[in-house]
Amino acid sequence: NNDIENDYDVIIVGSGAGAMTAAIFAADQGNSVLIVEKSDKYGGTSAISGGGIWIPNNDEFKALGGTDSEESALTYIKAASAGSAAESRIRTYIKNAPKMLRELQANSRVKYAVAEKYPDYYQHLEGSLPGGRSMDPELFDTTGLGDEIEHQQPASGNTLLMGKMAWTARQAHKAVAKERGWMLMIIGLMLRYKLDFKQRKKGRRDRRAGLGGSLVASLRHSVLDRKIPLWRSTEFTDFVITDDKVTGIKVLRDGQELTLNARYGVIMGSGGFEQNQQLREKYLPHPTQQAWSATPKGCNTGAALEAGQKLGAATDLLDWCWWAPTLKVPKEQSARGLFAERAFPGAIVVDGLGKRFFNEAAPYLEFGDAMYRNHQKTGNSIPSWVVFDSHFRHEYAMGPLMPGKIMPDSRAPKAWRDSVYWKADTLEALSELINVDATGLAATVTKMNGYAKTGIDEEFQRGGNVFDRYYGDTSVKPNPCLAPIEKGPFYAMKIHPGDIGTKGGLLTNDFGQVVRPSGEAITGLYAIGNCSSSVMGTSYPGAGATIGPAMTFGYVAANHISANR
Ligand code: FAD
Repeated sequence: NNDIENDYDVIIVGSGAGAMTAAIFAADQGNSVLIVEKSDKYGGTSAISGGGIWIPNNDEFKALGGTDSEESALTYIKAASAGSAAESRIRTYIKNAPKMLRELQANSRVKYAVAEKYPDYYQHLEGSLPGGRSMDPELFDTTGLGDEIEHQQPASGNTLLMGKMAWTARQAHKAVAKERGWMLMIIGLMLRYKLDFKQRKKGRRDRRAGLGGSLVASLRHSVLDRKIPLWRSTEFTDFVITDDKVTGIKVLRDGQELTLNARYGVIMGSGGFEQNQQLREKYLPHPTQQAWSATPKGCNTGAALEAGQKLGAATDLLDWCWWAPTLKVPKEQSARGLFAERAFPGAIVVDGLGKRFFNEAAPYLEFGDAMYRNHQKTGNSIPSWVVFDSHFRHEYAMGPLMPGKIMPDSRAPKAWRDSVYWKADTLEALSELINVDATGLAATVTKMNGYAKTGIDEEFQRGGNVFDRYYGDTSVKPNPCLAPIEKGPFYAMKIHPGDIGTKGGLLTNDFGQVVRPSGEAITGLYAIGNCSSSVMGTSYPGAGATIGPAMTFGYVAANHISANR
């Protein structure tokens, strides 16, 4: 095809946050760049995510008077990852993450603020901070993107206020924690949305994008500013190899096979393999289901992993996901993650024996992992059940159910009854409905009601640290994460050990280059984001610990390519 340019300095596969960040830096360093994206929508999981990035020692926190250092970040990540990732890569991350963000914000439309109160996930580890490392995108006005925004992976319902209005993570937290002024803030957000008559005539989509939608839209706009071509519906199928070096890729574009040449490098940013049931069964703990993943359907099917393995690349952490307990909502394409709600006071998670098995307020990776570990022991926690009473139902959200005071059962979609939530007048009747041991559940609830009184969860120390309490209700005393379950009717929701992406993949070195088992780099080949094995190893140190590294190693890879041109 004569109209198509086949030769580029750098080709980037995938259009998530890491990929577009790499494209921007590579282009600004004087490279001709092409982005290819398999889906007809750009943005991948990054676009439907919270868009948080975990950047230790960032400028914004220090500007607010915060204290952080490379040393404490290193101590913390090393303790969290416990030898499951190379120290030199961790050091590279810590050095480059604040630089990446500084340069990206100075030269592109991306804009972040520090989420000062968002604690690191492992408060018991040395070097953790009670806030200041997780960064939250500012709202982004998508008007300048024109029709291109229609081709962005649409935000998932649970990242939007009432399923339609954009907000930041800081605003969402203010509402959940019912901080001073939260009602006024919500009214302000609603008015801004409703009074945008021009946009309302067009449809439901908010003119402003928040969270991952903001990050990806601002990156996409910055990619457009640089006239970097982004080909949607173009699927990477394999590498082109010349003299043991990667010199290009093969793609399928509109059913046509093309060979594209990359003079200086190919950067794989094509996500993990969570949407590939066969690969899940091959590598992940069992049972495992693609349908439990909260990632966009059909996007990330392990293309980089399979092509890399053929080349002889080393891999690591293939049995790990960024776990998150998820539930299915009819008509929604992906499962929904339960990130915050488990910490709200008055909800517990039990297995088939009606027993709690972990601190419900723990980070989602640890909770998903605990579901597997308990299942291996008892055979009874996949699925598990979130149980709460009518007081909880009235006050708090759980999955797609907004608090009953806003969305009573009578206003929730009928199809959700007995598919999203189960309901019965007594705990005993509820146990029967969901096939959970009634005696076990009754005993668990009695114990929890005692802990709620004393404020001490004697089994799992729920609410025992600042991370647990981040999503607690400060008006509940003595422990903002503990409340009794006593007022019928009672509710249950079914959860699975889902994921927000796989965590293992091609092993890379300090420059983002894919390596062979010997440690030798494969010239011309870089991998970032979830197609590479995570720099965090088996850990999830804080909110943004997946996208922060994806963007940072995108920056590192672009720098390495340009320096070695
Ligand atoms: P993606 O963003 O998924 O991009 C990969 C792209 O590659 C996709 O568009 C895909 O279609 C494309 N692709 C795949 N195969 C091919 C092929 N063969 N050829 C061409 N293109 C291909 N993480 C955080 O750090 N902070 C958060 O706040 C956060 N919140 C989250 C909230 C939710 C609800 C979810 C689901 C996830 C969240 N995550 C968060 C996780 C995070 O979104 C992902 O880990 C991250 O976006 C993965 O980035 P990636 O670039 O590897 O993949």
